[in-house]
Amino acid sequence: MSRFTCLSGQNGVEHIRFRTGAKQRRAQRIIPVFLPFLGCPGHCVFCAQDRQTGKNASQGVASILSEARAATALLAPCGPGQSRELAFYGGTFTAIPAEDRRACLDFLATLRQEGRVTLARCSTRPDALSPSVLDELSANGIDLVELGIQSFNDKALDLSRRGYDGRAAMGGCRAVRDAGLKLGVQLLPGMPGCSPEVFLDDVRRALDLAPACLRFYPCLVPEGTTLARWFREGSFSPWTLEETVRALGEALNLAWQADVPVIRLSVAPEPAFDASLLAGPRHPALGAMIQAQALLTAATDAVARLGRTPRRLLLPRSCQGFLYGDRGSLKERWLELGLGPGRVVFDRNADQADLC
Ligand code: SF4
Repeated sequence: MSRFTCLSGQNGVEHIRFRTGAKQRRAQRIIPVFLPFLGCPGHCVFCAQDRQTGKNASQGVASILSEARAATALLAPCGPGQSRELAFYGGTFTAIPAEDRRACLDFLATLRQEGRVTLARCSTRPDALSPSVLDELSANGIDLVELGIQSFNDKALDLSRRGYDGRAAMGGCRAVRDAGLKLGVQLLPGMPGCSPEVFLDDVRRALDLAPACLRFYPCLVPEGTTLARWFREGSFSPWTLEETVRALGEALNLAWQADVPVIRLSVAPEPAFDASLLAGPRHPALGAMIQAQALLTAATDAVARLGRTPRRLLLPRSCQGFLYGDRGSLKERWLELGLGPGRVVFDRNADQADLC
């Protein structure tokens, strides 16, 4: 798929259209049910699901579902055109005991029958899939399976002790698609063995699999993990904030141009998790910084394609909040492109950028 649409406008002036992820930010409502570490073969070297989700890792499925029932009891049924999604996150859903998975799927069936949810997803590992479990998900109302791939790179997977290689990761993605389910791919840029080049290669491989969505979780160092020990020993260093913004900005632009939504650019804020961090690229405006970098990258490519100083850049209104980056750090770069404030306009009805 081409990154750009070239159009001849009035007087033969060429316009370049490109995507900015505008549609992708219109997220539907998701109701998360966290199952921290449930079904996981061990605690992965970087993972602190309990702190990340703010949930007690020793809580059983019955108690988790009872809380979820209480939380969803007052939800009104979805009206025409509305959607609401139930999401089983935080563990390895396809490897939890069969009776626990049955209880989760029964809960989903009830919510669907009552019209309180219209969609459902779960997260799991690429090496915890079998044809029968995928059939079970598909037959019981799961629409989308998110795979914690982390990387497709053999060396990175080995150094991070994931227990599968790149081939198995690709196989897991294909198995989800072959079962008629939508695929979500989670990547962990900056994990051991993952350079920006490896990550961008991972993103390209993920996009080739035609996923319904991607998530990027820049690798952080939470206390209590193996990664924390490696960090203290000096055998692991996370990416800097600058490296992260640059690499994820490029990756986000790749996803925008492929029209694949990136539904997370960093771990969601959670006080206990943030308090436990020893190191890593964490910033309250990280998502906006990455979007700003992606937009600058897309505009730079489009200006090069146009081959002259642009007269005007029309952007979707949703870009207004992050255009110039954190505290205007990218303003100079926009000026160098010939796109000072007087030449950039925002349009609330636009869902693509238009450069002329
Ligand atoms: S990374 Fe995934 S498989 Fe590993 S412990 Fe965390 S939730 Fe479980």
